[in-house]
Amino acid sequence: MQEGKRHVAIVLAAGKGSRMKSDVPKQYLGLNGKPVLYYALRAFEDSFIDEIVLVTGAGQESYCQSEIVEKYGFQKVTHVIAGGKERYDSVYRGICALEGADYVYIHDGARPFIDAALLSRARETVEQYHACAAGMPSKDTIKLIDDQGFVTETPQRKYTWTIQTPQVFDYPLIREAYERMYQDMPSLQITDDAMVVETMLQTPVKLYEGSYDNIKITTPEDLIVAEAFLA
Ligand code: C5P
Repeated sequence: MQEGKRHVAIVLAAGKGSRMKSDVPKQYLGLNGKPVLYYALRAFEDSFIDEIVLVTGAGQESYCQSEIVEKYGFQKVTHVIAGGKERYDSVYRGICALEGADYVYIHDGARPFIDAALLSRARETVEQYHACAAGMPSKDTIKLIDDQGFVTETPQRKYTWTIQTPQVFDYPLIREAYERMYQDMPSLQITDDAMVVETMLQTPVKLYEGSYDNIKITTPEDLIVAEAFLA
């Protein structure tokens, strides 16, 4: 394990959560009496992470500061900033807010179930490979389809993983990948950070073992599953 490096988390909570069918964005909904967002912040706060940048919806910064950061005493949250239109815009704002990071852990605030073991796997992997993402082997067979819904390919299941966060990178590397993407390929359909590195740079992205519990709270039934995990 490397000493003296600065590990910074960007926690994303600027989504509108339209699939949740709730007026309250999903990251603020209650899970066992605390907001969903609390759990990921708690895991980072209690870990080796040095600093947390919290990216929230425009206009929600002071609510987040008082009702989450101060209320629960998160000392490592140094910035609460407004995100952007798409997830990748929010990530880039987080990246630009950082000073002096060596490694950046980009995490969906809507994934409450990260823990110390997962974070240490992330750390070991990024220190060795520079770019990595949490994932788990697919339980189901995955098929690629065309626009009409016909199957075009069935990859062998041992080669298909579903991808989670944290996705973790050397800071200069992820910053360069995002800057190149905005400059050269602004219409790229980005769904995760690893994809920006895969597309814009030559650096291979290594997967590390996430967890089947590391779900993203997206639709109302996910909250029921999450309550069951906590019970
Ligand atoms: O929408 P999706 O479920 O993919 O969002 C994943 C994470 O990214 C959530 O934690 C959400 O709050 C965040 N996000 C964001 N800015 C956006 C869209 C999503 O920070 N514009």
